[in-house]
Amino acid sequence: MNTAALIVAAGKGTRMGADRPKQYLPLLGRPVLARTLAAFAGHPAIGRIMVVIDPHWRQAFEEAAAGLENVEWCAGGDSRQESVHLGLQALNDGAAPDAVLIHDAARPLISAGIIDAVIAAIAPGQGALPALAVQDSLRRGEGGLLSGSVERDNLWRAQTPQAFPFPDIVRAHDALAGENFTDDAELARRSGLKIAIVTGEEENFKITTPADLERAEKTLLCRHGDIRTATGIDVHRFARGRKLILGGVEIPHDAGLAGHSDADVVLHAATDSLLGTIGAGDIGEHFPPSDERWRGASSDRFIRHAAAMIARGGGLIAHIDLTVVCEKPKLGPHKAAMAANIARLLDLSPERVSLKATTTEKLGFTGRGEGIMALATATVRLP
Ligand code: MG
Repeated sequence: MNTAALIVAAGKGTRMGADRPKQYLPLLGRPVLARTLAAFAGHPAIGRIMVVIDPHWRQAFEEAAAGLENVEWCAGGDSRQESVHLGLQALNDGAAPDAVLIHDAARPLISAGIIDAVIAAIAPGQGALPALAVQDSLRRGEGGLLSGSVERDNLWRAQTPQAFPFPDIVRAHDALAGENFTDDAELARRSGLKIAIVTGEEENFKITTPADLERAEKTLLCRHGDIRTATGIDVHRFARGRKLILGGVEIPHDAGLAGHSDADVVLHAATDSLLGTIGAGDIGEHFPPSDERWRGASSDRFIRHAAAMIARGGGLIAHIDLTVVCEKPKLGPHKAAMAANIARLLDLSPERVSLKATTTEKLGFTGRGEGIMALATATVRLP
């Protein structure tokens, strides 16, 4: 069975009170949508992924989808239902799937287990809905006073992804486009499809408020209990006639550093410490100085490469601490810019990057002004 995912990411998420829709807010350094997409892109049963977005946020979408294959987008409509309908139409081309999973972008903690379960429940004329039985008593209240109760038997809390045979859900959306439904399972049921209930997960909740975002962060941290720390050290000699690049920032000085690439000693130490956390060797093995491709290369790509390796393994960079050792130039005025740039390169919030500068009191090679040394300590959380 050829199965696609349709991710609904066109909402404005105004209840969050943030400067952008909630699906683009960072969740431990990566946008909520990036984590949702990664869950589907990493699942072997999912082929195409169609993301319905508000084109106003196209740039944020591109950043969230960077590095993922098979991800397409289309513009959404005024309501969720209309957005899903447009997404289904976009999938309904020469490569239309046999089945589709329709999922809220704001449920980033979706597990492979639920994806497996809803796919397994798809049958001719039948879709599937992940849901949790209501456990708490349900009460009505008015004006702060109890006014009645609701029988909780046979009540379920609906989640996504909701799964359907593709032609059936396209027909249902075409037929019922004029009416309003709260979700696709209800729309499909009203069009005559059977909907199997499969067991959802508490962790597959929808992020709506700032408290939900915090809960999602805590849940993710609990899933990443394997904490690794590693160091990186690098030294480069001063060389006349070159720019001095430290932490990706050009620093005014009468000499730069000698090296095959841009000789950014700070990013090199940072890269080695990140590689060390996953036992992935050192920068020279990934980017040999003998390789002409790296002549004069910006070291951005080295540190991004290490970060991408960590992300591919499901890891989170918790923190990176850097110390730059030199007599000259004075780095105090540039520390904040270097730290901010490294945070940007690693998609980290600023408090997760620490950058210090020191001298060796005129002792040793740094004290004699022969070069610069950088030391890095990275902490990474792996699943
Ligand atoms: Mg180096």
